[in-house]
Amino acid sequence: MRLLNKVILITGAGSGIGRSTALLFGKEGAHVIVNDLDAVKGEETVSEIQANGGEALFLQADVTDPDSVKTMVDRAIEACGRIDVLFNNAGISGVGALHELEPDQWDRVIRVNIRGVFLPSKYVIPHMMEKRSGSIINMSSCIAEIGLARRASYAATKGAVLALTKSMQVDYAPYQIRVNALLPGTILTPFVENYLKTSYDDPEAAIAALKSRQLSNELGTPEDVAQAALFLASDDSKFMMGSPLYVDGGVVFGKNA
Ligand code: NAP
Repeated sequence: MRLLNKVILITGAGSGIGRSTALLFGKEGAHVIVNDLDAVKGEETVSEIQANGGEALFLQADVTDPDSVKTMVDRAIEACGRIDVLFNNAGISGVGALHELEPDQWDRVIRVNIRGVFLPSKYVIPHMMEKRSGSIINMSSCIAEIGLARRASYAATKGAVLALTKSMQVDYAPYQIRVNALLPGTILTPFVENYLKTSYDDPEAAIAALKSRQLSNELGTPEDVAQAALFLASDDSKFMMGSPLYVDGGVVFGKNA
């Protein structure tokens, strides 16, 4: 078991990549603290981990709200004594070229995807500093590296998360805290399924176009990303610091080769 006895907080773990990661971490011996906005989905993740023989606890919080996040972290520390790994996974999509976006639409994506990394980190890091140990995984995207049509707000947030990751790593390296980023390509999750349904007249044709962008000719699965998160959460990645880890079917580098 690669995460035996580690206490791991995953935000947005009621769905998609967060849920798959929570299930894998549970099987690998972690005590998983499952966060989500939606209590029903979060509790479902916990039940599934427990049904597989793992340990998990659900803590509802909105990652954009300081009081809500602080209470979640306090309760996690009360219940488990420490947080060894923080996976800042919660995020939302944003569709539209810059001029098409209303200011409120822009603000919402910025708020969830950047503030939603800032706040859990802000309240967890002092506990990691005290223990002089920790691993933080920030969810970026391969869109931080490539241009993609009509994703202005989303791309801005994922680029910011990548830059933030590197800066955090410099600040917290003296405390033996590692901070790395995950950069997935297109992963078939409820987030992408919803985007396909609402943005295209022919979702099947859209999926085919997305597949053709990837060298793999397939979309990624949440489990593909969960395996990469497992590596970053475990001590196997102890020499990785401030790194972007691509899980993208070759989208970023392959097409340019
Ligand atoms: P998903 O299935 O929609 O899961 C995201 C989860 O985050 C949902 O359960 C959502 O809850 C939760 N969430 C949203 N806002 C929240 C908030 N304010 N506080 C707490 N939880 C909140 O999406 P996913 O595809 O697994 O994406 C997970 C992460 O990977 C996101 O950061 C996304 O940007 C990133 N990513 C995804 C892909 C992809 O192709 N799927 C590619 C690159 C990066 P609700 O449903 O209740 O809102």
